[in-house]
Amino acid sequence: MGNVLSVQNITKSYKSVRALKGISLEVPEGAVFGVLGPNGSGKTTLLGIVLDVLKANDGSYQWFDGMPSDVARRSVGSLLETPNFYHYLSAYENLKITTAIRGKGVDDRVQVLELVGLEDRMHSKFQTFSLGMKQRLAIGAALLGSPKVLVLDEPTNGLDPAGIAEIRELILRLNNEGITIIIASHLLDEIEKVCTHVAILKHGDLLVCGPVDESLRPEEHIEVAAEDNERLASVLRLMPGVNEVKLLNGVLMLTCQEGIGIAQVNEYCIANQIVLNHLVVRKKSLESKFIELTNKK
Ligand code: ATP
Repeated sequence: MGNVLSVQNITKSYKSVRALKGISLEVPEGAVFGVLGPNGSGKTTLLGIVLDVLKANDGSYQWFDGMPSDVARRSVGSLLETPNFYHYLSAYENLKITTAIRGKGVDDRVQVLELVGLEDRMHSKFQTFSLGMKQRLAIGAALLGSPKVLVLDEPTNGLDPAGIAEIRELILRLNNEGITIIIASHLLDEIEKVCTHVAILKHGDLLVCGPVDESLRPEEHIEVAAEDNERLASVLRLMPGVNEVKLLNGVLMLTCQEGIGIAQVNEYCIANQIVLNHLVVRKKSLESKFIELTNKK
């Protein structure tokens, strides 16, 4: 499978603010691709550029391996800002207006309403909807015309936990239907739960990009202690596969290469006549890894 979107070295400044400082990334077909970063990191700017709403100062991008942009754009549905729906009209009637504005011709409102799980409520007035339902309708509007790719900017903003869960389920369902999804969010939790790939932005720089399980894999440390921690440290510093040994609050924190676990550490200590009185694996939480990544520099 190829890439649906490829971005090369995009830069964008708003007067003195450098919003994007040379971003390059690729979104594989079939992915749920998260653009993650704190507020002001450049997520909306990046989405605006690839959706042709904003002009980059430099760099380029291609949808679907260089398909002419007007053709490609017909295969990309987007939700950058919440659309204005009429409160006194039903979901079905509201989508009629969206369809007419887009001028896409085909009336696929019923399929779309089924896809976003509003088929039972399609004739209810918009004002009777919960916030989660309103957001699902907004996503429905972006799905008119059967796009291959859906671009969503902070789709769970302002929703309660139930609404957030509804959107998360919907994203997974749409992805199962074969739609590639690009989603901007400042919530690590959201990205971690639904995304297959992630790009982390900070102050317009791309910090990390790749599959979620590689990019956001929590780091593991092995914690050990013995009667004589000084001697233990000097022995472990010589152990093959141990990259770092740090003494912290009376225990040693080891950063090891893959394949070195507590069994190997224990064995090595026994072979060097050291009896351990403490040996555990500590996982750094994703939260702390994300904070560390975005706080660097
Ligand atoms: P948020 O989550 O708050 O929407 P974001 O990651 O989407 O943030 P952007 O909205 O892309 O970030 O903003 C990136 C930077 O560009 C910020 O410093 C922002 O203040 C600035 N910026 C965005 N739009 C404009 C504009 N129209 N004029 C001037 N500066 C802007």
